[in-house]
Amino acid sequence: MNRKYRGVVIAANWKMNKTPALLKAYAETLKSLVGHARWCDIVVCPSFVSIPGAIKSFRGSRVSVGAQDVSAFDAGAYTGEISARQLSETGVRYVIVGHSERRARYGEDDATVGKKVRSALGANLRPIICVGESLQQRDMGVTGDVVTLQVKSALAGVPEAQIRRIIIAYEPIWAIGSGKTATAEDAGNVAALIRAVIRKKYGARVARAVPILYGGSMNEENAQELLMQPDIDGGLIGTASLEPETFASIVMAAKLDNM
Ligand code: PEP
Repeated sequence: MNRKYRGVVIAANWKMNKTPALLKAYAETLKSLVGHARWCDIVVCPSFVSIPGAIKSFRGSRVSVGAQDVSAFDAGAYTGEISARQLSETGVRYVIVGHSERRARYGEDDATVGKKVRSALGANLRPIICVGESLQQRDMGVTGDVVTLQVKSALAGVPEAQIRRIIIAYEPIWAIGSGKTATAEDAGNVAALIRAVIRKKYGARVARAVPILYGGSMNEENAQELLMQPDIDGGLIGTASLEPETFASIVMAAKLDNM
């Protein structure tokens, strides 16, 4: 990570885990451990139904609340969808966009991801855009091509003035929930490639301000090594975020004196 130019973000993706009733105890523990952390932005992304409770429980702390998805549309006849404006008005500040589970299981393509990014930015949310290759793509040696295309499509139509609100999460699909992590060096190289794609489109000054996270079986043991890579500015954490103590350990790993 490079704190001179960009902030550090440690984000929890709870996926479809935990009911609203479990939130309060989690929030109390997390707040007591890292609720005043100044060295990074902490984001918790619960299911939609837990969002109002999360906002209430984390109020007054440094923990922000994010959503796990957002509609590509602003308003209208889209049964079951939730718009960026609705999230923003509820107090949500971040939203995960294009998670590989949504791409694979709900048919989200690059064009839809791009629309969701623009919709989120339009409502003042910070999109955490997920990109990453499958194991097959990695074995075929096309990781760079896949990730480059995903980043370019997600950023299509995003003006320079808004690019600083973007966060990219490099999440190799084969590492998600599998217990397998990319080596720190490999993950760092792909993060550097992502930054180069942004640099080519928006210039060096803009590119160095965009936080790039790593996601994929990050835990309290491997976090520090991954975070020491110059182009990795935080983590998007699934499994290891479900217990507040483990998630707090990853937040602690991002502390400057630990690096
Ligand atoms: C994720 O789903 O974004 C993720 C990184 O999950 P895990 O940490 O469990 O691999």
